[in-house]
Amino acid sequence: MKTIERAGGIIKNGGLVAFPTETVYGLGGDATNAGASQRIYQAKGRPSDNPLIVHIADIESLEAIAAEVPREARLLAERFWPGPLTLILRKNDKIPYETTGGMDTVAVRMPADPVARALIQASTGYIAAPSANTSGRPSPTEASHVKEDLWGRIDLILDGGEACIGLESTIVDLTEDVPMILRPGYITLETLQEVLGRVRLDPGLIAADSEEKPKAPGMKYRHYAPRADLKVVEGESRAVVAEINRRTALLTADGARVGILATDETKALYGKGTVISIGARTDEKAIARHLYGSLREFDALGMDVIFSEGFSDAGIGQAIMNRLLKAAGHQILEV
Ligand code: AMP
Ligand code: MG
Repeated sequence: MKTIERAGGIIKNGGLVAFPTETVYGLGGDATNAGASQRIYQAKGRPSDNPLIVHIADIESLEAIAAEVPREARLLAERFWPGPLTLILRKNDKIPYETTGGMDTVAVRMPADPVARALIQASTGYIAAPSANTSGRPSPTEASHVKEDLWGRIDLILDGGEACIGLESTIVDLTEDVPMILRPGYITLETLQEVLGRVRLDPGLIAADSEEKPKAPGMKYRHYAPRADLKVVEGESRAVVAEINRRTALLTADGARVGILATDETKALYGKGTVISIGARTDEKAIARHLYGSLREFDALGMDVIFSEGFSDAGIGQAIMNRLLKAAGHQILEV
């Protein structure tokens, strides 16, 4: 039997299959089966109030699970699907509350990755899939990351190589008057505004100490974090390098293992510590693709402390800095 058919059969029978998507690897189960969704939460150790994204392979499936499909949803689907954009709509009875974390809305995405699409078609047509990591850890961008976190807890892992984007989808809520970004991603605010006109960013995302709770339940948790104590150093490049070198010298003298997340432009400027370059500063796509893998690499090397340079927050940088600062528990050193 072909692997995809076997994987689709596992999902139809309520089992769990990890699979590649263009954003990160997903942990998939039948979105219409309450028991399968509960197993996803268990396997990840995910809080049960943090809803799952439903992955579909055709536009008819959107009509089948949404109570209504607003005009904005059609415009966005036409322009960005299949692709790294998730839409929040009101749900109907086809998707159980176990999948939506008890919410009356449902998150829907049509992924572009051919393995993901084939798997959805070979299963029930609706795959609930959060990122395939243990809750709280960096999201998996390679099959080996999934294996590290979930092997023994799930039925199958499909290996599709390295995820080409490396950050989770942009989430847009279409249930309010003005469409709102609940999670920044590869598809930026500016691009969404081109299609929809008015779009705003969830105020709960903007400041770490904001009084407002983020509307996507998942965004309130510490997330994406390596085991080491991660701090982001922001400021003018030469001052950042000098400060990281100063702190690294002190910490290594005390016997700590220090990792430095640098860029191609700065990697040669560090003295002590274990340096990983995330890519060239001018290549924000490379930075997005390598972020989670680099954090996992520092974990594998047993680092105690990681200093990361800060990155521009324009365009995709907004998503990069959102994830990096969450991973750091918002520990920022300004120099
Ligand atoms: P993950 O699939 O691990 O990237 O997580 C899915 C993200 O989507 C989490 O941050 C969830 O809180 C968010 N999400 C899923 N469904 C909804 C919904 N109905 N309303 C708001 N946020 C949602
Ligand atoms: Mg996740």
